Amino acid sequence: MTGSEAAQEVSVAQLISWFECFARDVERHADELSTLDAAIGDADHGTNLNRGCQAAARALSGNRPQTVGEFARTIGMQLISSVGGASGVLYGSFFLGYGTAAGDATTLTPRALAAAWDVGVTGVVSRGKAAVGDKTMVDVLVPTRNALRSAVDDGAGLKEALTAALAAADQGLESARPLVARKGRASYVGERSAGHQDPGAQSSWLLVRAAAATLAG
Ligand code: ADP
Ligand code: MG
Repeated sequence: MTGSEAAQEVSVAQLISWFECFARDVERHADELSTLDAAIGDADHGTNLNRGCQAAARALSGNRPQTVGEFARTIGMQLISSVGGASGVLYGSFFLGYGTAAGDATTLTPRALAAAWDVGVTGVVSRGKAAVGDKTMVDVLVPTRNALRSAVDDGAGLKEALTAALAAADQGLESARPLVARKGRASYVGERSAGHQDPGAQSSWLLVRAAAATLAG
């Protein structure tokens, strides 16, 4: 590892700040997320996710995780047990995958961060079986994964990689809006889902935005 890579490592404390930032944003936007879900689902995405994020934030401050694996597993297990809707299992799978990839590491290089995101996204896709274009959170998470991976492969540092990730999330979010949902509850309303933003894509965008705001160093 070079000196500049070492200086660019993300600590567990920064990862906790990332999640706390996301949890605050979900709380702030809970009504909006549920309103998006009201149009094409069952109006509970904001309340579901907020309940899970607050439980996970409390567990983080109680457990004080020392490794990236403990950090991510704490969140994943809380989301799975307390969210209720489909998104709890899916976000839970993201964080469990993230934790498996990072294991006992106490810091993440940009490359390790991209790898953890990759395994997290693979967890969401294998759990929910959605592809890009199905109008779900995957429309934000997969392009973000691709952007992180290619930025790191091109030698980008954290700031540059996270800026690219957020740009990909912006694009993914907007590309989902006109689509007809093919997975999850929104698929039940069929053509009527076109033109509405997917609530899970919107909350995934918040997750990426929080990462760009807290992890870029
Ligand atoms: P529920 O649909 O059970 O009420 P939520 O409202 O909390 O759960 O979450 C809905 C969001 O979950 C959707 O907007 C979508 O982004 C995401 N979602 C649902 N099913 C899937 C799936 N199979 N794969 C990926 N994401 C999904
Ligand atoms: Mg719902």
